[in-house]
Order: sequence, then C-alpha cells, then structure tokens
Amino acid sequence: MCGIIGYIGNDNINKNLVTLLKNLEYRGYDSAGTCVLCENQFKISRSLGNIEKLEKKLLEYKSAKIGIAHTRWATHGSPCINNTHPHTSMDGEFAIVHNGIIENFAELKSELIDNNNIKFYGETDTEVIANLIACQKEKNTLSKIISACKKLVGSFALAIICKSEPNKIYLVKNKSPLYV
Ligand code: GLU
Repeated sequence: MCGIIGYIGNDNINKNLVTLLKNLEYRGYDSAGTCVLCENQFKISRSLGNIEKLEKKLLEYKSAKIGIAHTRWATHGSPCINNTHPHTSMDGEFAIVHNGIIENFAELKSELIDNNNIKFYGETDTEVIANLIACQKEKNTLSKIISACKKLVGSFALAIICKSEPNKIYLVKNKSPLYV
C-alpha cells in the first residue's frame, strides 16, 4: 500500500513533504516522488526507493507554497523512474498523485491516444487520469475533475494541483482512504 500527500501553506515545504512521506514509510513502497509548484513551473523529483534523496532535491524549491508527494507500490507498470508519481498531463497543466487501481485504464488510455493524440511517457493508470482530466471539455477545473472521475472504474484517492490555480489542491476519494 502506498500513500499520497498534499501540503499547502507558508511553512517550510520541503520539511513538511518529507516528514509526511516518512510517516507513510511503514506502509512499504518501491519508489517515491514530489512535485511542488514554483514560479508557475512544476518541479518534480523522483526516487527509486529512498526518501532521503528527495529531501536534498526539495531544498532547491524552498519558496514553494504548495506540493504533492507519493510513495508507490507499483500496480500498473514496473517500478522505474518514468512510472514514479507525481504524473503530469501532456499539456503540462495538471500534476497528480494517486493511491489505488483504475480497472478500465487500458480502454481510457486507447481513447486518449485515438481521440486526443495523447503521448504517454510511462505505463501507469495514474498518467491516464491526469490526461483524462486535461481532456475534459468543461471550462473550470472542478468540473473537469468531476467529469473525468465519473469515467473511472476502480479505487482511487487523488491529490491534484494545477498551474492555473496555484493556491489549490483538489482531492478526490473513491474507496481508497483519504485523511484531510
Ligand atoms: N496504480 C498506481 C501505479 O501503479 C498507484 C499504485 C499505488 O497505489 O501505489 O502507479
């Protein structure tokens, strides 16, 4: 079992994300990653195995006020850097961490490739969710997320950040636990 984290606030972001990740370590993981929003850019750090490595990388982004993080137990795609969360949509607007399994991910992925010309860099069901959200026709982010999540079959807890709304973390839960 992996875990997801979102943090927003003025306190030391690297310390908060790493401390929260360490709290999840007992659940086991094969890889871990963080994404902070810094000067309108996603700064993503990924590590196979070791959370300490992320702590060092995060020091560069001390000024960030918002971030998400993840410990992964691979279910879709091998434990490699490309499959390590957080994942981003191809348009670069959304970054997402996910705990759970999307049972209909293959079908959704094919539709995104065929209808929206999405190129995937990894093999996870999570990258499918990020792009599914980005490809919804609704105008505002909340409506896009609701519309995308209605298409998902499976269990999921999600934390989502987007570049156009740098002060918000969207959280979604279906079957997988989520603590706010
Ligand atoms: N299904 C996702 C993946 O394989 C999330 C796995 C998890 O809950 O850690 O990346």
